[in-house]
Amino acid sequence: MQKAFEAALIDGKSLAASLVERIAGDVAVIKAETGQTPGLAVVLVGEDPASAVYVKSKHRQTEAAGMRSFVHRLPVDTTQDALMSLLDQLNADPAVNGILVQLPLPPHLEAAEVINAINPAKDVDGFHISNAGLLATGQEALVPCTPLGCTMLLKDRLSDLSGLNALVIGKSNIVGKPMAQLLMAENCTVTVAHSRTRNLPELCRTADILVVAVGRPEMVRGDWIKPGATVIDVGINRVEGKGKPRIVGDVAFAEAGHAAAITPVPGGVGPMTIACLLANTVTAFRRQNKPNTTRFAAE
Ligand code: NDP
Repeated sequence: MQKAFEAALIDGKSLAASLVERIAGDVAVIKAETGQTPGLAVVLVGEDPASAVYVKSKHRQTEAAGMRSFVHRLPVDTTQDALMSLLDQLNADPAVNGILVQLPLPPHLEAAEVINAINPAKDVDGFHISNAGLLATGQEALVPCTPLGCTMLLKDRLSDLSGLNALVIGKSNIVGKPMAQLLMAENCTVTVAHSRTRNLPELCRTADILVVAVGRPEMVRGDWIKPGATVIDVGINRVEGKGKPRIVGDVAFAEAGHAAAITPVPGGVGPMTIACLLANTVTAFRRQNKPNTTRFAAE
C-alpha cells in the first residue's frame, strides 16, 4: 500500500502574492515621498516563445505593482554593438532603475559581455560580476532572483537555517552558485553537487535542505530524500505525454511525501522569482536615490 503524502506544501504563490503586495505599498510610499516611480527595463532579443511569455508576465506584474515598465523587443539579428548601445542608453536613463536582459540570447551574441555592460547598480538580475563578487564576499549586492526567492521560502518555512546540512544540486551562475552563497550566509553547511558528483543519492540522504536546480524531469527520486527534509524544486521541465504537455520539476514529487515540506511545480519557486525581481527593482531605486534611508519590506 502506498504511504500517505505527509509533506507540507510550500506555497510560493501565496508568499509571492504577499511580497508583491508589500512591494506595491513600498512603491506607493516612494511615489508620495519623492514624486518618482521606480522603473524596470526588460530587453528581449529574438522571438523565443518561452522568453516572450516571461517578458510579458514581468511587464504585467511590474505595472501591477505600480512601477514603470519599459520593454525593448529587438530583432533576432540584433548586433552586439546595437545591444551594447541600448544598454548604454538605459544605464544613463534616470527613469530606469533596473535593467534585465532576458536570457538565453541568440548564439551570435556574447552574453557575459552583455551582462557586464549593465550598470551593476541597475543589475536587478544580480548576474554582473560585481554583484556576484559582492554576494560571494558577504557584502550588499543585488542578488539573483531565483535563489533569493528560494531563500525566502526556506526562511519562511524554517526561520533559522543555521547549522543545517544543505545540498544544492546544480552549479549554474544564475541558480546553483548564488544559492550556495546565500545558504552559507545563513550559516548552513553547504555541499554543491553537479553532473560529475559521485553517489548523488547518498549525498541527498544527508541533506536537511535540498535545493534542486538541474533541468531533468523528476531526477531526484523519493528514496534519495531524507525523511523530514525541506525540498526546494527549482526545475521547470515540459514533459510530453498523453494529452496536454505537463510541467514537472526536478524532483519526483509524488514520491516525496516523507519530506517535511516541498515546493510544488508549478506554484513553488516560479512565482517567487518574479516577485524578487520587483523587490530588487525597489532595492535598486532606493540605493540609487536615497542611500542609507528607509529599508523596504522586501529586503
Ligand atoms: P543549467 O543547465 O545552467 O545548470 C544545470 C546544472 O545541473 C549544472 O550545474 C549541471 O552540472 C547540473 N546537472 C546536470 N545533470 C545533472 C545530473 N545528472 N546530476 C547532477 N547534476 C546535474 O540550468 P539552470 O541552473 O539555469 O536551471 C536549472 C533548472 O531550473 C532548469 O529546469 C530551469 O528551467 C529551472 N529554472 C527555474 C527558474 C524558476 O524561476 N523557477 C529560474 C531559473 C531556472 P554541470 O555543471 O556539471 O554541467
